[in-house]
Amino acid sequence: MTSDRHIVIVGGGHAGGRVAQHLRALDFDGRLTMVGEEAHPPYERPALSKELLVGERPPEDLVLGPNSFWTDSASVRWIRERASRLDASQRMLTLADGSTIAFDELVVATGGRARTLAIPGADLPGVHSLRTIADSLALRDALKPGSRVTIIGAGVIGMEVAASAVRMQAEVIVLEAGRQILARCLPSVASDWLRDIHVSRGTRIETQVGVTAIAQSGSGLRVHAVRDSGEAFSLDTDIVLVAVGIESAVEFLDGSGIATAGGIPVGEDCRSPVAPWCLAAGDVSITYNSLYDTALRQETWRNAESQARAVAEFLMGRTEPFLEIPWMWTDQFEHNIQVVGRPDGADEVITSHDKAGRIATILSLRGGRIVAGVLINNGRDRRYLEKLIRSGVTVERHRLADVSISLKELC
Ligand SMILES: Cc1cc2nc3c(=O)[nH]c(=O)nc-3n(C[C@H](O)[C@H](O)[C@H](O)COP(=O)(O)OP(=O)(O)OC[C@H]3O[C@@H](n4cnc5c(N)ncnc54)[C@H](O)[C@@H]3O)c2cc1C
Repeated sequence: MTSDRHIVIVGGGHAGGRVAQHLRALDFDGRLTMVGEEAHPPYERPALSKELLVGERPPEDLVLGPNSFWTDSASVRWIRERASRLDASQRMLTLADGSTIAFDELVVATGGRARTLAIPGADLPGVHSLRTIADSLALRDALKPGSRVTIIGAGVIGMEVAASAVRMQAEVIVLEAGRQILARCLPSVASDWLRDIHVSRGTRIETQVGVTAIAQSGSGLRVHAVRDSGEAFSLDTDIVLVAVGIESAVEFLDGSGIATAGGIPVGEDCRSPVAPWCLAAGDVSITYNSLYDTALRQETWRNAESQARAVAEFLMGRTEPFLEIPWMWTDQFEHNIQVVGRPDGADEVITSHDKAGRIATILSLRGGRIVAGVLINNGRDRRYLEKLIRSGVTVERHRLADVSISLKELC
């Protein structure tokens, strides 16, 4: 170490881990401390609902390599503890064990915790959530061929687990409060297509249903629910997975003025406007995006990767704003679905697909401009779609709908 500058990263997950690695790659020569409450070194989470759950990848595979980075204290001092309080005026962090750490700059990358349901029985054995390696391994242990799984919530994680559980020969029921699956990221045409695929593999999907209670029933569980029509019903199951989103992990910032309940608002420089020495990256950040003229909170692998790199660069003097087009993917059965951009406020949806309907592009337009798109089994078009969104060009509709014209030709 040649400098005394001390950067502390709170959160030893994907984004926090990448910030540490990028800082050292950018020749940061000061002190670097990472406070992370999980037992594992920083790892990537997408496999938790897919390859790790079905046993195709071991946990060690998910760690942000090289492993030696996390054991070499010259790279980073990794404290396995929870941050419990921040004294913003003193720039002092208190940990759950009572110890304190003074710092010059703070990076918050604490992500979120799986939201729980405030209903009777939500804490019974057999009721699972999925955010960590430990959660995924516990769910895998519980899932046996023939076991009955009830998934509450038809978002990305709920439906990925549904697909994995079917592959593991479980019987799957999905209960969703809204009208469609993956409603937050897919237009209805894509959501309906995906729903049909799940149903054709044997999954029962019930939408517009609210779960009211979970109870012990013999050696299993009974889920009580009520449809929007008012009809109450119950079903017996062995396992429940609650997959109803996340809550930002910002409790330790209470009273600092840096966080809201939804996360940490930051500007295009990833810094908190109320405390510019505090930067945020990953799921916890609510980042202003001038392309969409709004602040976005993204729960995506890509954002954890790219915002972490940007935060390290800002700490090392970067001046250009962090400006990315949102992108996420999900793998369900043999299908890869990528969502690029933000469809909010779209006034038109244009679909093109091949004859078999296996490869499709669904574009959302606002005022004739492409603002978002869904690529089904067509990920190689992603960078062209990003280019079209970024440039804001208008393209004639008949060309967008023509499957024989690739997005590359339209750029
Ligand atoms: C099951 C699953 C599947 C996913 N699949 C996909 C996918 O297919 N595609 C995609 O684009 N994205 C996917 N994601 C999303 C992606 O993994 C997340 O966006 C990414 O992990 C966010 O990284 P992060 O560092 O912000 O948060 P995290 O990786 O959650 O890391 C936050 C870390 O901070 C720790 N922490 C929290 N509070 C404190 C505290 N007070 N003190 C110390 N430590 C603390 C947490 O324990 C955690 O280790 C998936 C996520 C999950 C859970």
